[in-house]
Amino acid sequence: MERKFPKKVKRVVIKVGSSLLATHMMKPHEASLKSLVAQICDLRDKGIEVVLVSSGAVVLGLGEMGERVRPSDTPSLQAAASIGQALLMRLYCDYFKSRRRICAQLLLTWDDFADRTRFNNARNTLDVLLGRGIVPIINENDTISTDEIRFGDNDKLSALVASLVHADLLVMLSDVDGLYKKENGKLTEKFQEIREITREIEGAAGGAKDKNVSRGGMIAKVNAVKIASSANVPSIIANGQEKDVIRRIVLDREPLGTYFFEKEEKLLMRKHWIIFVAKPYGKVKIDDGALKVLMRGTASLLLPGVAYYEGNFKAGDVILVEDLRGLEIARGISNYSVSELARMTDNKAKRELIHIDDLVLTAK
Ligand code: GLU
Repeated sequence: MERKFPKKVKRVVIKVGSSLLATHMMKPHEASLKSLVAQICDLRDKGIEVVLVSSGAVVLGLGEMGERVRPSDTPSLQAAASIGQALLMRLYCDYFKSRRRICAQLLLTWDDFADRTRFNNARNTLDVLLGRGIVPIINENDTISTDEIRFGDNDKLSALVASLVHADLLVMLSDVDGLYKKENGKLTEKFQEIREITREIEGAAGGAKDKNVSRGGMIAKVNAVKIASSANVPSIIANGQEKDVIRRIVLDREPLGTYFFEKEEKLLMRKHWIIFVAKPYGKVKIDDGALKVLMRGTASLLLPGVAYYEGNFKAGDVILVEDLRGLEIARGISNYSVSELARMTDNKAKRELIHIDDLVLTAK
């Protein structure tokens, strides 16, 4: 049986987790690295552009230093990443060179996506590299950013990259076959494809297994899938230990792993940025009347509905909108700074705090 992709796959982002690239002794898994490079080169030889998002810096750095267990403090992990990243890239460069391909290193943080100029610079660099047949290899810049160390294993980063380059497919490889249904706490059957991430799907996502090597687990992956699908990019979560998994998924279109459809209605770039990329700098709580109006999805948030605000936001910053119980309802770009709000004496005036075009409902 062949998997039908809704669009032609010409540009793919492949994400590999640490568990595939390192042994349990935290040393490079050379066979796995070589196979990964060989498969990427096969795709490139067929004219498919590939961006690789690779973890492994922390674990390989720890192995290089002769550690046996993952330390719990962030500076030690960041130091390990600085050692492991160099080691990882040396291996990639050698393996790509043996296939007469050039690879490139890009170290990014989530903040790079939040800043328009940096975002455009990253995209321009990637376009040039891809256009010249080079394979960009991206990792989180762990020594200055700790987001993926804390929350995932480059899962979110890979989804942001897939959105940035308008990929036709995001393939997330780890050491599990895909997402499994959970019944009475037990994993039963694998989901072949998922059209929408419901609460049931989120409930089926568990944590990482080997805490020394794997990070993030299914929840981080499912959250990443949400980011990609809202940017119109379908995703596959599959087992990277499966022989020739990339070739079989992309070239032979074998239905391996779990396939997540992209959302039919693509979120506008600006709205995608508001929910997934920008960091909120404050929040407002709105009263029940404003809540009712807002939930219809057709109105701006006006100042009279705001019961409370906090944070240190400027005009143009993203803020959270919560109901009186503290449940997040929406996110949007504030038209006013905190100090402007504090100076306003007549807050009954029907001024817009967040314009409808800058407001995205996030409550389910
Ligand atoms: N970016 C990290 C790495 O490449 C994340 C994984 C981790 O925290 O172990 O190693």
